[in-house]
Amino acid sequence: MSLQLFDTHCHMHEMVRRITPVYDKWRSDGAERTPETVIAAAHEAGVNRMLCIGTSLADSELAVEFVGERKGMWTSIGIHPHEAALHQNSEAKQKFAALATAKKVVAVGECGLDYFYTHSPREAQIELLKFQIELALEHDLPLSFHVREAFDDFWPIFDSYRGAGLRGVLHSYTDNMANLEQAVKRGLHFGVNGIATFARDESQRVIYRTIPQRLLLLETDAPFLTPVPFRGKVCESKHVRVTAEFLAELRGENLEDLAATTTANARALFKV
Ligand SMILES: [Zn+2]
Repeated sequence: MSLQLFDTHCHMHEMVRRITPVYDKWRSDGAERTPETVIAAAHEAGVNRMLCIGTSLADSELAVEFVGERKGMWTSIGIHPHEAALHQNSEAKQKFAALATAKKVVAVGECGLDYFYTHSPREAQIELLKFQIELALEHDLPLSFHVREAFDDFWPIFDSYRGAGLRGVLHSYTDNMANLEQAVKRGLHFGVNGIATFARDESQRVIYRTIPQRLLLLETDAPFLTPVPFRGKVCESKHVRVTAEFLAELRGENLEDLAATTTANARALFKV
């Protein structure tokens, strides 16, 4: 069975630098990984489209370079809310804005508000969120949003830009039914990853069953959030496959349908 899956949120380009300790697991098992082996493994699992996601100016530059000539790969440029305070100066903003016209840039983000960790002050997060929404609108690009425990502030900001082509995805959606309804009303997509496979709470499973198929996107957030039954391994784009299988079962949907629809949703949103 040949599925066509799209990993709409990964940080695969980071493997070049291997800065996060998560890659120690690769070092310890001895097998050699290169971008090519990771991409080949994804293709073998039916994951033949991947979107790399930038989290800072330097990381977005790396992502643009990484997707380069690689087939079936695109990138989003973004400043993560954790990084907001480091990008408030106009030089960083100018360099970042210039990246929006680079080849294969199809989205802006991940950007948003994270009041769970608050690694950057709220004011800085809000400023960088608005800056990135404006940049996306200027270039007619969709946004990849990271919103954690901050929807009360997020919705008024989002609504102040509504209309004028504002569109995007709530990446790694794990919030409640009320915010799900708010997002559906606004036509936002939902990115679902490995978290779904280890959500024990019935109220979480109801969320994953309720997301309308027309707004559902699959993602990994690789190298993080490895789905069951691969917990303890480094997450890779190939793992979209098990999340798709899990969701098809949970939602009572046919796996081929789910794969085809989520891939079509992503291709329409990102225009690829
Ligand atoms: Zn991410």
